[in-house]
Amino acid sequence: MNDKHFNTGLLVAILATIITILAPNYFPQKRLTIWPNTDLITYFYASKQSDGTPSAFWLNQEQSLWRCVYPEDNKNEYFACSFNILFGQNLFDSINIEEYTYLNFKINYSGSAKILRIFIRNADPAYSTKEDANSTKFHSLVLHTKDLKEEVQIHIDEFVVADWWLGQYDISRHLSRPDLSHSVVLGIDFVEGYQPGNHDIKIEKIEFVGEWISEEHWYLFILGCWMLGIFSYAIVRLVQLHQQTKYDVQIINQLSDNNAQLQLETDKFRRLSTVDPLTQAYNRFGIDQIVATLMNFNKGKKENKSAPDFALIVVDIDHFKRINDRRGHDTGDRVLQKISAIISTGIRKQDFLGRWGGEEFVVIMPSTRKEFAIALAEKIRMMIYDTVFEPDNPLAVTASFGVSDKLANEDFATTFKRADKALYEAKAQGRNCCVIADDELPL
Ligand code: GH3
Ligand code: MG
Ligand code: MG
Repeated sequence: MNDKHFNTGLLVAILATIITILAPNYFPQKRLTIWPNTDLITYFYASKQSDGTPSAFWLNQEQSLWRCVYPEDNKNEYFACSFNILFGQNLFDSINIEEYTYLNFKINYSGSAKILRIFIRNADPAYSTKEDANSTKFHSLVLHTKDLKEEVQIHIDEFVVADWWLGQYDISRHLSRPDLSHSVVLGIDFVEGYQPGNHDIKIEKIEFVGEWISEEHWYLFILGCWMLGIFSYAIVRLVQLHQQTKYDVQIINQLSDNNAQLQLETDKFRRLSTVDPLTQAYNRFGIDQIVATLMNFNKGKKENKSAPDFALIVVDIDHFKRINDRRGHDTGDRVLQKISAIISTGIRKQDFLGRWGGEEFVVIMPSTRKEFAIALAEKIRMMIYDTVFEPDNPLAVTASFGVSDKLANEDFATTFKRADKALYEAKAQGRNCCVIADDELPL
């Protein structure tokens, strides 16, 4: 996921959030129509008039118009006159009004009362018994009759539990707060001082409205979506990073493999350019580099009187032409290889063996005096002398040695010339011997 995709995703998420926050305003509301509703049972709870007839009755039931008559000559201390709507078929069939937010209420009232009361009763086994209908918790709300010309909207929280009911049933504090979760009945009655005369009420609308989902739940849902989104994004990024790391490690390994391969190739070519393929000794180019390195290495140092830069041994196989002539060129090659191997074994590990050309070898011995070098030359001469070449058809081979060391301010060519002269002398002395060079340059 690149930055562009991330930004687009974030923008879409923010837009979706704004739309989701605003959306509930456009959702249809949850409605519960209490009136008009032919399924619900209604009844009057009313005291009797002096002629024995109930004080509350329908004037015109089709028009939902009923009357309360408060007689002039009332003897009844407690005069009741109320209209009740049952929420179920049985006394304790209940509905959960707490799922709604408002009660929309529209009635037409004519009469002398200034206020009337709406009440809702709630059944709870903690305080209600079937034997006593009054034991259902009594919540009420008082409305001014002058306000009833318009439809009124009452918030559910406006209903409070009546003091008389709490007193009458001796309700403990934790059960005294409003609870409309199991409402069984809604009613209308009068509460102010006794008002003789007719009170006519025409009920037009009683309806509970609310949201299908509460604001809290809705915001919790949005928050949940964000948390889920962030969590998923984190997981995806983690997986991507893991894969990227894996891929990077693969690339690094591949590069380092390639590098090692290249290094091997480079080493191979470097070796090829400095090593003689037949004898595996350094070739002239290789020896030149070694000598240049040794001379450079010592250039910066103070003149060291105790040891020269290097000693040089020049080795030449005796009568090699004869070997070639008598035994053939292949035997000659094998002798060259064998001589190279013998010299390699004879020298120290810090010394360098080179094939100078034809049947001639050189040994470079760093920081070594010619006196030491000739001793080593002598040892190698003996090793060659003692070796049986071509065991199947034995062949005696000897070599002659010229030894010098590099004098101060002398170039390699001069050191070589002096060693070569010593070699010439060794040949002259009858071969198979070592001769140490003069410090004088041959004329
Ligand atoms: P001396 O004792 O005086 O050194 O005599 P020599 O025969 O060794 O010297 P000369 O220089 O006359 O002969 C060297 C011979 O080495 C000549 C040449 O054919 C042979 N030679 C040079 N390079 C090679 C090679 O790579 N393989 C073989 N088999 N022979 C070689
Ligand atoms: Mg030669
Ligand atoms: Mg020779």
